[in-house]
Amino acid sequence: MKQLPAFSAVRCKRCGICEHFCPAQAIELREDSLPYLAKPKACTSCGLCRDMCPDWAVHLRDMSEVESEVERIETEGLEKTA
Ligand code: SF4
Ligand code: SF4
Repeated sequence: MKQLPAFSAVRCKRCGICEHFCPAQAIELREDSLPYLAKPKACTSCGLCRDMCPDWAVHLRDMSEVESEVERIETEGLEKTA
């Protein structure tokens, strides 16, 4: 099962380490410097972004979990996201 990183906006200090060290260059920083997975197909699920993050702001989730969340947001709208 492929896993993809999720970034906690609460924990993340916007240091950019995860983006810098991603060997697949799959992470980019938003305008406010919060990282996001810009290229999910390029991600190899290596876990380096999670391991390098000094603030425990990254965790890997099963891709099916991410897909079902996207589906739910498309169906119910973003405002219902917890
Ligand atoms: S799991 Fe690995 S390849 Fe995927 S975004 Fe993190 S560092 Fe990059
Ligand atoms: S390494 Fe952690 S704290 Fe730094 S930008 Fe990435 S998620 Fe945020």
